[in-house]
Amino acid sequence: MEKNKWSGKAYSQRYYEILEKRKSLPVYAQKQEFLQCLMSNQTLILVGETGSGKTTQIPQFVLEAVHENHPSKWLVGCTQPRRVAAMSVASRVAEEMDVAIGEEVGYSVRFEDCTSSKTVLKYLTDGMLMREAMTDPLLQRYKVIVLDEAHERTLATDLLFGVLKRVLSNRPDLKLVVMSATLEAEKCLEYFSGAPLMKVPGRLHPVEILYTQEPERDYLDAAIRTVVQIHMFEPPGDVLVFLTGEEEIEDACRKIVCELGDQVNVVPLYSSLPPAMQQKIFDPPTENVRKIVVSTNIAETSLTIDGVVYVVDPGFAKQKLYNPETRVESLLVSAISQASANQRAGRAGRTRPGKCFRLYTEKSFNHDLIEQTYPEILRSNLANTVLTLKKLGIDNLVCFDYMDPPAPVTMGRALNDLLDLGALDEELNLTRTGEMMSEFPLDPQMAKMLIVSPKFNCSNEILSISAMLSVPNCFVRPRGEAQKAADEARARFGHTDGDHLTLLNVYHDYKQNNGDPNWCYQNFINHRAMKSADNVREQLVRIMSRFNLKTCSSDFTSRDYYINIRKALLAGYFMQVAHLDRTGHYLTAKDGQMVHLHPSCCLDHKPEWVVYNEYVLTSRNFIRTVTYIRGEWLVDVAPDYYHLSNFPNCEAKRVLQKLSKKRDRAGNPK
Ligand code: ADP
Ligand code: MG
Repeated sequence: MEKNKWSGKAYSQRYYEILEKRKSLPVYAQKQEFLQCLMSNQTLILVGETGSGKTTQIPQFVLEAVHENHPSKWLVGCTQPRRVAAMSVASRVAEEMDVAIGEEVGYSVRFEDCTSSKTVLKYLTDGMLMREAMTDPLLQRYKVIVLDEAHERTLATDLLFGVLKRVLSNRPDLKLVVMSATLEAEKCLEYFSGAPLMKVPGRLHPVEILYTQEPERDYLDAAIRTVVQIHMFEPPGDVLVFLTGEEEIEDACRKIVCELGDQVNVVPLYSSLPPAMQQKIFDPPTENVRKIVVSTNIAETSLTIDGVVYVVDPGFAKQKLYNPETRVESLLVSAISQASANQRAGRAGRTRPGKCFRLYTEKSFNHDLIEQTYPEILRSNLANTVLTLKKLGIDNLVCFDYMDPPAPVTMGRALNDLLDLGALDEELNLTRTGEMMSEFPLDPQMAKMLIVSPKFNCSNEILSISAMLSVPNCFVRPRGEAQKAADEARARFGHTDGDHLTLLNVYHDYKQNNGDPNWCYQNFINHRAMKSADNVREQLVRIMSRFNLKTCSSDFTSRDYYINIRKALLAGYFMQVAHLDRTGHYLTAKDGQMVHLHPSCCLDHKPEWVVYNEYVLTSRNFIRTVTYIRGEWLVDVAPDYYHLSNFPNCEAKRVLQKLSKKRDRAGNPK
């Protein structure tokens, strides 16, 4: 009897079932060719249609090849741009190899490491591999690294290109496989000059593209209408609908169920969905029931859903955008590229000839959509990137081997922000604070806030707030009758001084109730979010203690308890402050952008100064998670940033001028 070489046990029935399916995947036919290519090259580029088996099979092939001569102290790593994909694919591959997830096959994503000493194949986000490079610059633990979904050109993948190129020249024994779903491999080939290109022919059936005659006014509405029509008039076959985010997807799912009832199986897919729910997209088909998957961009290339014959593409996705002038980075619903649209259409032709319903005109496709999505490095705030590269010892950021170099103004902005945060000194070298900041898997402001929190005698509270800000929204808001009850429950946690303190209240109550799921349920709190907040907090505590940053709290009954917390918030987020103008509008300090308090904000009045966690661009400019602060604190906490000499002329400046005069009269020390 054949035994599993990893577990030593006999293979399960399921193993053989999946093996049959695996053997039918296009990459399987080229296994030998791939292994040959891998043996004789240090770097190779592999291009293959989505669903050809790249992500699930190639790392297993690699493992077979390297494991023979290198027992398990070597790792094979495979990066994914999305955390959901890393987790989902790892589980699938564990199943394919007939081992338990977290043992031989594991995954590592921010704040969650599911690996063990036995792990030989690790799926991880590109961001996590960057983090590992910070402590292990030559990535000594790895024998082969597979950079998957290279076509997505995420910020971390782009940085890894440059970092890995350096590592490869220092480690002749390391191998790199770059995998991509599209044929724009020329850029990659040029970048890794000399690397061979291997193509896996797709198994695509023709897809008929249908456009709308007129532009659609409401794409959500149009998408739902299209799904209903497909169900009524098209032969059997599953439907995949692309929408932009959780709320929209849940809304659409409800409406589709409302229209079609249980003739269809409607399945949502987005990143904050619990893993068990995510697995539902892979449920085997039920006879006479059409499956309708309503998904974010994640189904574009990251996850393959079998059985899809119809694709509904409204032409939008949430995309990161950064404006270095106003310093606003935001996720914005924006038009996709032609390349994305073609990928989406391709999802309809995996099983048999399919149809793609584009909810825009052909003219719009040809004239309004850009050819390729811009790489993320051109659309992001780079403060974190600079911090990471500095930590990696890459001092000359201009000479770093970027596939696409970032805009100089964005780079300048990042350097400025890091100077303001005290992470860099005048020579642009990392300071001690900067070193510490780079070790927190958080944005620089939050890291700074944690680092200084002991000085404000409230690191315990800042840890809890940071953890709460790092997990999905903890407030559950069901539709229908329960909505009012949910809003009332939420109001009970409300703190008069702002949302950060409200989050702190939730966390404290949760702990007071020993993390009881029933308590969560009764109070409309998302238990999963709270559990992960707890986990995140523990990890942050560990980093704090590594740097001897003490965990402390002010006396809860003291007048200063909340004041200290609010000052510590400001010490990290002083660049995210807004001032209420006489006209009743908030303007961001220094940048003068008009913003509104987000509807979810718990403040019952409009304080003159507020600090905010996030700038949300939708139909209006919102600031979300907002806390009331005092103008006097600005100069105490960030004297250089709020120095009047480098402040643009505006009402906020005049107010600060008055405050500083008052202070001088009172004889306060500077
Ligand atoms: P590629 O990376 O080339 O897009 P994958 O390796 O992700 O292809 O997928 C290969 C096949 O494995 C697909 O047919 C897909 O449906 C199947 N598959 C992947 N993940 C799962 C899963 N969690 N459950 C069931 N099937 C899966
Ligand atoms: Mg893949």
